[in-house]
Amino acid sequence: MYSQPHSLHARALILGAGVAGLAAAIGLERIGVRPLVHEREGEHARGHAFLLLGNGLRALDALGLGASVRARGVWLDHAEIRDGAGRLSHREVLPDCLVLTRADLLACLHSGLRQVQVTYHSRAAELVCGADGRIHSAVVETPHGSARLATDLVLGCDGGRSLVRKFVAPASQRRRGQVDELVLLLDEAQVARDLGRGLLKVHDLGRGLAAGLAPVTDGRVVWWLQFDTARHKPHGDDASELQRFALESCAHFGEDLCAPLRRAEFDKAHWWRTGDALPLEYFQRANAVVLGDAAHPFLPFTSQGANMALVDATRLAAALEAHTDLDAALVAYSRATRPDAVAHHAAGVALERNFVQGAPSMATLPRSEACVS
Ligand SMILES: Cc1cc2nc3c(=O)[nH]c(=O)nc-3n(C[C@H](O)[C@H](O)[C@H](O)COP(=O)(O)OP(=O)(O)OC[C@H]3O[C@@H](n4cnc5c(N)ncnc54)[C@H](O)[C@@H]3O)c2cc1C
Repeated sequence: MYSQPHSLHARALILGAGVAGLAAAIGLERIGVRPLVHEREGEHARGHAFLLLGNGLRALDALGLGASVRARGVWLDHAEIRDGAGRLSHREVLPDCLVLTRADLLACLHSGLRQVQVTYHSRAAELVCGADGRIHSAVVETPHGSARLATDLVLGCDGGRSLVRKFVAPASQRRRGQVDELVLLLDEAQVARDLGRGLLKVHDLGRGLAAGLAPVTDGRVVWWLQFDTARHKPHGDDASELQRFALESCAHFGEDLCAPLRRAEFDKAHWWRTGDALPLEYFQRANAVVLGDAAHPFLPFTSQGANMALVDATRLAAALEAHTDLDAALVAYSRATRPDAVAHHAAGVALERNFVQGAPSMATLPRSEACVS
């Protein structure tokens, strides 16, 4: 149900139309605010796949999209864990866990917008502040020139290198992660069938490597390789080098994991240069607020980037609905978000340390609820 139009925040501006930006736009529309959304890239979604966990799925339910997202994803119920020699080590039951391509998740979120339009190829280049310390307008650059958009509420959903975060927390520094990830979607219908509802994960603890395969829709699988960059690194970004690196790293992990890599098109591989940042004290300043990776870039181990982006969107909408005073609403959002941000950040750092040290207790499977204190 849509509530009555919200008289406040008539000029809300969302920068970034990734997971956080589209989810936030839906959340605002549901409380009667119609934001402008500006996205630097084109509409065609880049990226690979997410594991959606309990908290992200509940946020999608709150946005009215739980059913459509569940219909597009693949449910996983177990993981098969192998050691570095490709031998079965054990099986684990997985918690609620849905695999979905990034393109499918963004398409679902887009379908949840009613009247809000997203302006693509429109990059926020500058935030213009008044003497009162609030952002009065944002300058966006499009292929046709630049424009100045007046605003009274800015939502920074602009990812890990956020412009809005620089306004909210100028001293905050992004830390480069030590373990990077190579990700690729593969057209492998038979492999997807063989995996069924299972995720395959290989932990090569001694060498600082881990690889995984999980089924996604339409006869595809998502493959990923995590590697300690102090010990392993591709010599460049070109497809043949990434393929050589992947095959060499996975050589002992089992033929079922290696064979698809020989057939794969590595020009579509994504080398995820990971990073995080110490959790902010506040996720808002004046009339600006940050969500998703812009608020709390996490290391990939906890699978929480997309999930928390969805949670943030629902929390912000709830705070704006509950408080008529904007500053009070943004403070309430910050307070609600911080405990999760601190817990997921700490879990990511601990898992990275375990990975690098080859700790036998390394638990790199998704644990959405257990991460939260
Ligand atoms: C290309 C890409 C591929 C990814 N692939 C995976 C993956 O396979 N698996 C996984 O778990 N996670 C992946 N991630 C990370 C994951 O998407 C995020 O952790 C999570 O979705 C958080 O969502 P977000 O909306 O905060 O950030 P993002 O999804 O990064 O969205 C931020 C958006 O803001 C836009 N933007 C940035 N700066 C500006 C600006 N100045 N003006 C306007 N728009 C701007 C970006 O183009 C982007 O669309 C990927 C991220 C990207 C960008």
